Amino acid sequence: MKYVSTRSNAASVSSAQAIVQGLSHEGGLFVPENFPAVSLSTVEKMVSMDYAGRAKTILSLFLTDYTEDELSDCVREAYTEGRFVGEPAPLKKVGDNYVLELWHGPTHAFKDMALQMLPRLMTRAMKKVGVKEQVFILVATSGDTGKAALEGFCDVPGTHVGVFFPVDGVSPAQKLQMITQEGANTHVCSVYGNFDDAQTGVKTIFNDEAFAKELKEKGYVLSSANSINWGRLVPQVAYYFSAYCDLVKQGALKLGDKADFCVPTGNFGNILAAYYAKRMGLPVGKLLCASNKNNVLFDFITGGTYNANRDFHKTASPSMDILVSSNLERLLYELCGKNPETVESWMKALKSGGEYTVDEKTLNALQESFAAAWTDDGKAFAAIKDVQDKENYLLDTHTAVAWVAAEEYHKNGGNNPMVVVSTASPYKFSRSVLCALTGSSHEELDEFACADKLESLSSLKMPATLRDLKSKPVRHKDVVNPAEMLSEVRSWAK
Ligand SMILES: *Cc1c(COP(=O)(O)O)cnc(C)c1O
Repeated sequence: MKYVSTRSNAASVSSAQAIVQGLSHEGGLFVPENFPAVSLSTVEKMVSMDYAGRAKTILSLFLTDYTEDELSDCVREAYTEGRFVGEPAPLKKVGDNYVLELWHGPTHAFKDMALQMLPRLMTRAMKKVGVKEQVFILVATSGDTGKAALEGFCDVPGTHVGVFFPVDGVSPAQKLQMITQEGANTHVCSVYGNFDDAQTGVKTIFNDEAFAKELKEKGYVLSSANSINWGRLVPQVAYYFSAYCDLVKQGALKLGDKADFCVPTGNFGNILAAYYAKRMGLPVGKLLCASNKNNVLFDFITGGTYNANRDFHKTASPSMDILVSSNLERLLYELCGKNPETVESWMKALKSGGEYTVDEKTLNALQESFAAAWTDDGKAFAAIKDVQDKENYLLDTHTAVAWVAAEEYHKNGGNNPMVVVSTASPYKFSRSVLCALTGSSHEELDEFACADKLESLSSLKMPATLRDLKSKPVRHKDVVNPAEMLSEVRSWAK
């Protein structure tokens, strides 16, 4: 399997090369040149496998330049011997929906599903491609990716990881998780601005050829652990197959019947993996893209115009506070008939004027697979309270956005089993979740007291790794303007 760029048919590379490199040279994203087909009989075989086995089945179709043994080692290290508590991706019936819990990894957000895998793929890829330099992973994060990347790469030989996060754009627990990060190869810095500013800053550094040369002389190559990296995306395809297998196993549907998936969406990586699963033959009905008040994707999916020129809202679901969804470019590439010039023209228009409109054929293709909904904090909070009261199940603020979308979709006649993708532990956003339950923002309580109160009101226990943050020393204190991000990286890559 080869990988091409969304902005050039000329770039054709192996998966190892795509993973080491992160972005294609002309700024495009790597995409598989086709989608390997998975038959229903393969899905049937996967039903009786554990998560590691299911993941290996999917990964081996895309990562054809890795050996069987390498992939077996990767999935075993990541999902069996890794730091997931119990099953990595359990599916639970809650009310009329099925909740796919993707937050049982070390940082308690779904990013662990990919970021416990990426370093293992990356270090093996470096050997395959013959990279002699150390890989310097740069990440812009809206909260969860940063910590998951730091945990994934912490003290992995031959790698460094540097994380930028928006100074006021992450939750207190997320911030504490990052600034207390241990490890000799970890670097963390906050940026004045929002997530898009941090992401743009990182992209600018990636596209700076002179800086790349300077780093190379010092013995480093840059790569990315953002969901623009193929090695981030491909492990995510696996859990859609796994969820479907569990629907079959639980008798929610018969093999071959369709399931719908509702995904709380920000950078469009998670839901894109669902689309890839559908293209591979997984029986998927609709993919429901759920947004918070930053509803640029809702407008795009319903109307065909992507317009990032709008107010940025800080919401109670900060990991979805995004106006420029990087991975959408990969979907556009598929929908417009794999035409790099067309993709490039839209991306250019987005960069210069902040908006673009797709043609009718592309819009039709988009709406054939996707539906969209958006929810404000008020409705999401009401859903958290309602589901806790009725089902004794605690949703986090992001999953609640998807829950509301899923319920509305049912009301409008959606009949397939609905999988609501749950992306974070409620204890990453304790104050907001507590506020949803009690109606008070509890100014008198600190983050940990909020978590204690939340524990007393629900049957879900706080993860020990989050509780332990209280006693950890702060190791990373830098704050910079976006324009200073490059010199910050320079100071890290000594
Ligand atoms: C990253 C994240 C999202 C958004 O996922 P994308 O792949 O960026 O669309 C949603 N919820 C949580 C908790 C996240 O960490």
